[in-house]
Amino acid sequence: MTNDCLFCKIAHNKLDTQFLYEDDTLVVFRDINPQAPVHLLIVPKKHIRSINDLTETDAPIIGQMCMVARQMAANEGIAESGYNLLFNVEKGGGQVIFHLHMHLMGGKA
Ligand code: AMP
Ligand code: ZN
Repeated sequence: MTNDCLFCKIAHNKLDTQFLYEDDTLVVFRDINPQAPVHLLIVPKKHIRSINDLTETDAPIIGQMCMVARQMAANEGIAESGYNLLFNVEKGGGQVIFHLHMHLMGGKA
């Protein structure tokens, strides 16, 4: 855990964020500024700065993020209608919070 990182604090339950899902690897919560009717963030507990900082040993984390995204889409009722899974990578890619996270967005008509 990195002390000055917002998503470290959230993922390690230091703030009062309500989780939709939690396991040993990651947490899922709603984006505070949703860009779609369903907008979830899938956030590993391990502090990884961005996709650029992944190592081979992080591969299972990415696998788990995708598996949980699939399940959360089903739980939110958007599996059939469709959704986007998105990583913003570095400033030019729109990344604002430098703790790895996947956006799950859907529910548009
Ligand atoms: P990114 O641009 O990929 O770094 O996305 C960061 C996302 O985190 C944005 O969509 C923000 O709305 C969201 N966000 C920032 N602070 C919080 C928070 N405290 N709780 C939930 N989502 C947040
Ligand atoms: Zn962090």
